[in-house]
Amino acid sequence: MDKNKIEAAVRMLLEGIGEDVEREGLLETPARIARMCEEIYGGLNQDAGVHLEKQFQVENNEMVVEKDITFYSTCEHHLLPFYGKAHVAYIPNGRVAGLSKLARTVDVYARRPQIQEKMTAQIADALEEHLNPQGVMVMVEGEHTCMTMRGIKKPGSKTVTIVTRGVFQEDAQLQNLFMQMVKD
Ligand code: ZN
Repeated sequence: MDKNKIEAAVRMLLEGIGEDVEREGLLETPARIARMCEEIYGGLNQDAGVHLEKQFQVENNEMVVEKDITFYSTCEHHLLPFYGKAHVAYIPNGRVAGLSKLARTVDVYARRPQIQEKMTAQIADALEEHLNPQGVMVMVEGEHTCMTMRGIKKPGSKTVTIVTRGVFQEDAQLQNLFMQMVKD
């Protein structure tokens, strides 16, 4: 990441909104934001395959569900946060990944400027590609601050996105089982 560019851009943004970039409270802000970008956009330089490559053999291909994975992301249209919970399930094909790796996979795709629809699909695609499971289902529930602090200002409204792959696509019973498992 080019921290100098980020700092220059933040200074320009502050000047653009009519701020005094030399006032004490703002002096360190460009550098602070540049450091923060390395963290909140750190997923751009990461490959979920690194987390999913360690796998274990299983005898029974029962559904694996990891629910309520908290994520924080940034909407690519406004560069404002959206955040919430991701629920990830797959039906193995003889191999499973470590449970914490599902949460890591969510992080890889959350830490990018994103739209929620694409993030949901990317998580499903990564699981499909690296675990070659019989099926994948991912549901993301996000609150978008670009809808709550600006624009239509509807606090508390949630955007829900769902992606199914493989056997989940056609099987309503499997989908229902997933929905029952992830609901509170
Ligand atoms: Zn937005």
